Amino acid sequence: MIITKDDPVKTTNPVAYEQSPDEPAWYRLEADEALARLRSDGEQGLSPAEAARRLAEHGPNELVERGLKSPWRILWEQLTAIMVLILIVVAVISIALGEYKDALAIMVIVVLNTLLGFTQEYRAERAIAALKKLAVPRVRARRDGHVGEISARELVPGDIVLLEAGALMPADGRLIEAANLRVQEAALTGESEPVDKGTNPISGAGVPVADQRNMAFMGTAVTYGRGVMAVTATGMDTELGHIAEMLQEIGVERTPLQRRLEQLGRGLAAAALVIVGLVFALGLLRGEDAKLMFLTGISMAVAAVPEGLPAVVTIGLALGAQRMLKRRALIRKLPAVETLGSVTVICSDKTGTLTENRMTVTVLDVAGHTVDLVEQLRRAAPVLSPDEPPLTLDHQALTLLLTGGALCNDATLEAEEDRLGHFRAVGDPTEGALVVAAARAGLWKRELERALPRVAEVPFTSERKRMTTVHEFRVNESTSQQGARPLAASLPIASSTRYLTFTKGAVDSLLEVSDRVWVDGGGELLDEPWRERIERANDGLAGDGMRVLGVAFRPLETRSAGMSEEELERELIFVGLIGMIDPPRPEVKEAIATCKTAGIRPVMITGDHPLTALHIARELGIGDGERRAVTGQELARMSVEDLEAIVEEVAVYARVSPEHKLKIVRALQKRGHVVAMTGDGVNDAPALKKADIGVAMGVTGTDVSKEASDTVLLDDNFATIVAAVREGRTIYENIRKFIRYTMTSNAGEIWVMLLAPFLGMPLPLLPLQILWVNLMTDGLPGLALTTEPAERDTMRRPPYHPGESIFGRGMGRDILWVGLLMGLVCLGIGFWGWSTGCPAWQTMVFTTLTLSQMGNALATRSERDSLLAIGLGSNRALLGAVALTILLQLAVVYIPFLQGVFRTVALGPVELAVCLALSSVVFWGVEAEKALLRRRTA
Ligand code: ADP
Ligand code: MG
Repeated sequence: MIITKDDPVKTTNPVAYEQSPDEPAWYRLEADEALARLRSDGEQGLSPAEAARRLAEHGPNELVERGLKSPWRILWEQLTAIMVLILIVVAVISIALGEYKDALAIMVIVVLNTLLGFTQEYRAERAIAALKKLAVPRVRARRDGHVGEISARELVPGDIVLLEAGALMPADGRLIEAANLRVQEAALTGESEPVDKGTNPISGAGVPVADQRNMAFMGTAVTYGRGVMAVTATGMDTELGHIAEMLQEIGVERTPLQRRLEQLGRGLAAAALVIVGLVFALGLLRGEDAKLMFLTGISMAVAAVPEGLPAVVTIGLALGAQRMLKRRALIRKLPAVETLGSVTVICSDKTGTLTENRMTVTVLDVAGHTVDLVEQLRRAAPVLSPDEPPLTLDHQALTLLLTGGALCNDATLEAEEDRLGHFRAVGDPTEGALVVAAARAGLWKRELERALPRVAEVPFTSERKRMTTVHEFRVNESTSQQGARPLAASLPIASSTRYLTFTKGAVDSLLEVSDRVWVDGGGELLDEPWRERIERANDGLAGDGMRVLGVAFRPLETRSAGMSEEELERELIFVGLIGMIDPPRPEVKEAIATCKTAGIRPVMITGDHPLTALHIARELGIGDGERRAVTGQELARMSVEDLEAIVEEVAVYARVSPEHKLKIVRALQKRGHVVAMTGDGVNDAPALKKADIGVAMGVTGTDVSKEASDTVLLDDNFATIVAAVREGRTIYENIRKFIRYTMTSNAGEIWVMLLAPFLGMPLPLLPLQILWVNLMTDGLPGLALTTEPAERDTMRRPPYHPGESIFGRGMGRDILWVGLLMGLVCLGIGFWGWSTGCPAWQTMVFTTLTLSQMGNALATRSERDSLLAIGLGSNRALLGAVALTILLQLAVVYIPFLQGVFRTVALGPVELAVCLALSSVVFWGVEAEKALLRRRTA
């Protein structure tokens, strides 16, 4: 589903091809008729020029969402924030009282504040919008006779779209081809069982959407089979678009951290207001001017109420999502950025995520004969190059094995354009490896298919772990069928044999449906000894970390069109085993080690053989030298409670089906874990939804799995998850740093104002000075803290518990004592100046306070390491913000006009030096505490 921002909702229906009331609905037309009416062609598709013209006419294929804020709305919200409104009122009152300078200064502060808030929020909104654009699925469409990938946004009525299992329907369309096509339409009809689709016209009028079996609708999902549709409606004209219009006003969801901070902010605001009231009352008692006290109170309230907290979270998360994108992790839901930092278990698929998914066949094994290809291979790769020695098959069963592997297969070999004689496999890597291996033996898939065209199929599913294709025998029809010749020689074909079925899949799954084994050119009974020998060979290969596939076949005399899965996959003749290697990704080993120091447990979940899984797990360091894997069969027998009892110990799950993943997530969550779970198939969707972080694969993942996920790995790489976790933790830590810094600073200001009357002093800071300190400190330096890079030990700490107080790990205590220290230092200077009759005493308090906060900002950069250790230059934004703030502070103190506005007095060299020296006390104090902390844990 595609969502954008600015386009206005269309109210008219611009589809010129749409039926007027006297025209039949699409489902009543024959497929050809529908195509004609759409002025399209099933074989050719639209021409690019026509597609462009229609795109201009209908607009992009996207649902309009009004959730995102326009710049004006952001500005309006900034200006109407309570605190800003108060300041504006105060400015107006000041004008009325003739205090023009005050009014001007307040307005300048409001403008600066708004500017700062606006740019930050605008950047965050842009970042989120950009992420949404990236999440638009790509579809395979036929244009100008070629199938190409285009963005679903560019689809127009008349486009011919290819559909396959796992795809989300990108638009509404009339099906013109359907093979075993099943579609889940819950999004539209509420029916959760997938429905069978076909292409025959349906008679009748007003047929409900649920019964339009020859139509496909945007937002539904292909769960099985494949098909082709001609797009009839796009964007808001689709059935989903009609509903979407009704569902417009859904609020933007808040993240848990935002909610908690909002709550916290309310508490703090109440406390701040009580203190402000106290200062106000004390001032009046001391006989201060009521107007001055009123302004002071308002300034303090503005400064002390942390109204910016939730906004900082949004900004932090949005920018964090941007940083994760650079690390190839696409965030689909903003709260995921936050949750990633709390992950305690990462459950990962093996194939393609932990390994490279660069399969290469290395072993062929048939009854009584094993070929080890490793010695013959120059380099393991999913390509066929002329430098590789050709494979000579000295055994007819090997020919049959590779023929079956190549025919029962959806991958193809494509010649590489730039390298003569090189071929590359396109499609599923497992299948690609088989096509390449067969071609090396002279069995070219294209030729095989000419001799044995596919007439029916049962697609691969990870539940059955096998697939079957049915081929019609055309060997005798033509002598030019090259590929068929060796095959014909290898088979004692009865003259009545018209069809051959090939089944390939996991060996255990094949043995279930085989009853003979191919030995010396004939089928022998598959008895116990044979089964044991095959299983032993299988275990041997799997124990070396290989992915093993078996191949079986069956001659068929006759075939009826609607033969079921069960009828096709039985009484098979087992041919042999194919072992392939898939090397672990080199960077994953280190990522696994990082997980372990970070208190995160990596868990492998795979459909592969337990021994294959264990081998790879040991190689990567998953678990500690695991000897045992829990299998899908065992999982199926366990209740969630049974699983709960062992889930903490298990690091490898093998031979699992997608439905088991859900069980594993449930058990882990019951044990209090925050679970990240990867998945790529249609059936992974429930587990991805249930997991705290659903992680889909960008390259091999289906649309359905992406739609169900929180993040998408653009490179399918496990190491990317770990990188994203690190970013998530960094963002959480930076938000904590921001809070620590601003709250300490606010506490310092409050202590100064609150304690002064008890020392008998007049107001140590004037209203405008308070506003200035607040703007300067919360503003740029605070924001710069949120860009702090990850700390050295970010991934050496246990995860933050999602329910953990944001003030946890000593932060609450720090805010109290550092705030008090800051207050006392400033007050000390003020008291000394005031009691010795120094006219600049207020300016000294003002300056020391601002400078102390700069020292505080620098010291807050790391929770444990000294500023020296992390390097002054590693956060340039903060360095710049600090320098700018100091310059502005000097300007306020020394430029005569500003002196008039802020009621400051130029400081002499000695006074300035004293301010500088004493303002560093806070910095040293915080650094000393960190040093103590380091010594204690060392
Ligand atoms: P993984 O979790 O490693 O991706 P899969 O569910 O894809 O596992 O595969 C499980 C088993 O199914 C594999 O070990 C293999 O034997 C078999 N298999 C995988 N892909 C295919 C395929 N395209 N055709 C037939 N069998 C397959
Ligand atoms: Mg797989």
